[in-house]
Amino acid sequence: MPEGHTIHRLAQDYATAFAGTAVHVSSPQGKFSDAAALLTGTELTRTEAHGKHLFLGFGAAGTDWVHIHLGLFGKVAFGETPAPPPTDTVRLRLVNDTAYVDLRGPATCALITDPEKQAVHDRLGPDPLRPPGDGNDPRTAYARISRSRTTIAALLMDQKVVAGVGNVYRAEVLFRHGIDPYRPGRDITPAEWDTIWRDLVELMREGVRNNRIDTVRPEHTPEAMGRPPRVDDHGGEVYVYRRAGGPCHLCGDAVRTAGLAARNLFWCPTCQKN
Ligand SMILES: [Zn+2]
Repeated sequence: MPEGHTIHRLAQDYATAFAGTAVHVSSPQGKFSDAAALLTGTELTRTEAHGKHLFLGFGAAGTDWVHIHLGLFGKVAFGETPAPPPTDTVRLRLVNDTAYVDLRGPATCALITDPEKQAVHDRLGPDPLRPPGDGNDPRTAYARISRSRTTIAALLMDQKVVAGVGNVYRAEVLFRHGIDPYRPGRDITPAEWDTIWRDLVELMREGVRNNRIDTVRPEHTPEAMGRPPRVDDHGGEVYVYRRAGGPCHLCGDAVRTAGLAARNLFWCPTCQKN
């Protein structure tokens, strides 16, 4: 499942390739054909992301939105024109004079109205990658966290609490601040939440820029430590994510893993005692 930085990056990439141009819209697979027929030839006017939800706004009024959620299997591929003939797995294809993009296998790809889009925002928590203000307030998340007996590790994955954080960022941000992932939300202090939120904003912005997740501080890079770089199809340098059994970059103890909130949690029991 992609994390929020991937979806915000996609919003930027869709805008770079198509914003301000009339777009040919099609659904070679057929499941989005009726909506595609309504949209084709209109202009892509804006794009937006909230957590793991992507919104493509069409038309001058900007009130026709394509709502996309990649889910577990969704994939997006951009290319330059001429576009090759689409395979019948392409749910949504956009083409203009210079570029094309194919969406395959999303959990959601639907044409929605402004109020329907607002309803999606309303059920999501604040997103570290959305501009502050205008309903995007980390205190909303803290109000839920500070009332909850659920572990902070599970709360960070709950999109109603915080939108866009996935399994990698939750493990890494807790490690970076030495926080025991099993602490109940209600034991997290306002100062700790403030630190976690600010760090998520910085880490995830860098994730959008680099299109991958790097969370190690300069003194813990492979170069600084004289260690081999991590080999993982997720890329990026991390402290604990998918490093179970490996030595912690800070203390050398073995990184641990356990199931939590339906996903594998990774942490260092020695470094994360706060
Ligand atoms: Zn450690």
